[in-house]
Amino acid sequence: MANLHQFDVVVVGAGGAGLMAGLYASRGAKTAVISKLYPTRSHTGAAQGGISAALGNLEEDSVEWHTYDSVKGSDYLGDQDAIEFMCQEAPQAILELEHMGLPFDRTPEGKISQRPFGGHTNNVTGKPVRRACHAADRTGHMILQTLYQQCLKNKVNFFDEYQVLDLLIVEGKAAGVVAVELATGELHTFHAKAVIFATGGHGRIFEVTSNAYAYTGDGAAICLRHGLPLQDMEFFQFHPTGIYKLGILITEGVRGEGGVLINGQGERFMPKYAPTVKDLASRDVVSRAIYTEISEGRGINGKNYVYLDIRPESVKKYAALDGRTNPDGTPYTLSGEDILKKIPDIIDFCRVYLGVDPITQMMPIQPTAHYTMGGIPTNKYGEVVLDDQNTLLPGLFAAGECACVSIHGANRLGTNSLLDLVVFGKYAGLRAAEYAQNAGFAALPVEPETASRAQFEALRNGSGRENAFDIATEMKKVMFDLVGIYRSEAGMQQAVEKVRALKARYQQVRVADSGKIFNTELLNAWELGNMLEVAEVVAECALNRKESRGGHSREDYPNRDDQEWLKHTLARRQDGKLVIEYKPVTITRYQPKARVY
Ligand SMILES: Cc1cc2nc3c(=O)[nH]c(=O)nc-3n(C[C@H](O)[C@H](O)[C@H](O)COP(=O)(O)OP(=O)(O)OC[C@H]3O[C@@H](n4cnc5c(N)ncnc54)[C@H](O)[C@@H]3O)c2cc1C
Repeated sequence: MANLHQFDVVVVGAGGAGLMAGLYASRGAKTAVISKLYPTRSHTGAAQGGISAALGNLEEDSVEWHTYDSVKGSDYLGDQDAIEFMCQEAPQAILELEHMGLPFDRTPEGKISQRPFGGHTNNVTGKPVRRACHAADRTGHMILQTLYQQCLKNKVNFFDEYQVLDLLIVEGKAAGVVAVELATGELHTFHAKAVIFATGGHGRIFEVTSNAYAYTGDGAAICLRHGLPLQDMEFFQFHPTGIYKLGILITEGVRGEGGVLINGQGERFMPKYAPTVKDLASRDVVSRAIYTEISEGRGINGKNYVYLDIRPESVKKYAALDGRTNPDGTPYTLSGEDILKKIPDIIDFCRVYLGVDPITQMMPIQPTAHYTMGGIPTNKYGEVVLDDQNTLLPGLFAAGECACVSIHGANRLGTNSLLDLVVFGKYAGLRAAEYAQNAGFAALPVEPETASRAQFEALRNGSGRENAFDIATEMKKVMFDLVGIYRSEAGMQQAVEKVRALKARYQQVRVADSGKIFNTELLNAWELGNMLEVAEVVAECALNRKESRGGHSREDYPNRDDQEWLKHTLARRQDGKLVIEYKPVTITRYQPKARVY
């Protein structure tokens, strides 16, 4: 093994979760962070709207309200002990980011500014509450930059542009990872006492998505190949407002600042679906409403999009109708200048990609695949758990979007993901360092790189004629059309069969580039293998769950069924077959109630 490295803790991924984990682990253990992207290019940098915490800087708020909103938003599938923990930790986490130097927007008195976001409410009045802390519409960018600088300061060892291909498990314990160095094509073995996966989500399995190209579910697929379970994979969030056709996200912050959704008849339609919170209902509700408007012929000019309207005169009109006021009681308005200050990137996206100026024109939008609720099951300390008894896999941890704690349950509330990264990234890092201090290095397998090498060789030397791009395009379309916002038995059955057929064709994929240096064709083909694995599990788990809950909406089972389905799905591969087991949901204070919007 020419390229052997040894660290106490190896973190895979340098987004918000990986950097937070790396930072905390490095304080107690020799730590490396491995990332297929340069760290600040991670998808966390694309997060726009904000990070939640019940600071109550602009109006009354409480940790309890944040907890309840998140439980309700999860459609009662979130584990309430983990949600309580996250919401309690939130104010401290925000102050920590602030002290690290994160440039949050400020109120006139100098406090951290907060804006309303979907599903976050004052539990007494039911009205939206200002809970999302933000740095313009670049909150994730600022988090990523701040954490990266802190990691550099703490001398975390970075392996940038190294792609992890395999996890090493020896005698039931994590023992390290195998990665390819993109610049040279060389394989490297990282021997470690503890491994933390923070590899992000898998939204690229869908045709229209807000997710980065890197969101190919590598971490989840690697776990599947080792027979480890993935939790609640049927739940995927569709964000209501992606730029028409492109999928690029228009933050919910636009509606938080007073934007409203308008159909082809010029009507503001959300009050029909969610009379109290209206345009700020949670994402599953708004996405379904848009879908219904479009399918009933009320898209713009009968097409499959609607408008998002943040023009100052519209904001003024609808704020007056809603009785929305400023904290000092004066009527709420938003000038063109305010818009430019509060959502500059959104304005830029629309001007550049659409030639639309949101200050004077409405933005054409459609729902876009956005967030992976399911993932690698963990407890609230980031430790990977294997079954309904919460049996641990010693030395293996996961945090961020690739993990399922589960705080988001069947549907994540906006701004709770950035919070998830910071809170659970931290605890995963702390726990991993603590574990490493008390553990020895497991012996490495004799040839740790064998499996990775074999996967690459198959793609390089295949004699088939299949093209990876064509397979990817077909997979994305079938997943978006048949395992999307609305789902049905027949459609999902068709999707499962189609994905299986694509998997078979994938065996015949041939990569034309046989080079070693930055062979992106090879890596894209390898990532497609991951996406197919994950897509099949998503479709099979969705087919299996015969109810509607949160992001999982079935036309044939339109109601939530707590009797039968108030439980987490655990799915793993065994001898090529998917085995589905269940795990109870932890309920502490909030018994499931029907959702009222
Ligand atoms: C457009 C957009 C806007 C959003 N806005 C908000 C918001 O306002 N508020 C909010 O709370 N949430 C928001 N979210 C969700 C949130 O940003 C993400 O869930 C979160 O940033 C994910 O962070 P992460 O650390 O888990 O993953 P990422 O930030 O994506 O990092 C993943 C890391 O894993 C690495 N990686 C992956 N596979 C491998 C591999 N095989 N080998 C090596 N490295 C690997 C990548 O290089 C990367 O460094 C938004 C998401 C999107 C897409």
